[in-house]
Amino acid sequence: MEVSLYNSTVCRLCGEENDNGTFLYSSEENNQNLSELINTYLPIKVSDDGHLPRTICPGCTIQLEANVEFLTLIINGQVKYYSIKK
Ligand SMILES: [Zn+2]
Repeated sequence: MEVSLYNSTVCRLCGEENDNGTFLYSSEENNQNLSELINTYLPIKVSDDGHLPRTICPGCTIQLEANVEFLTLIINGQVKYYSIKK
């Protein structure tokens, strides 16, 4: 029997098994849409395709949030340069 990744507890990002995953896609019980952050800030695209895992592990959630913060910092820095230049 083929194991369904879609219903597994494997992390969509690092591929590790975990029991405390956060759902990536918004639903009744989940109003934060982590998939949007991944698609905006990480070099991969995720979608609810019915095949690949739908959760990410706590470690990846922290890394994702840190990345969003870091990239926002960089973007704000660049905005400063552009406002000085003109
Ligand atoms: Zn992970």
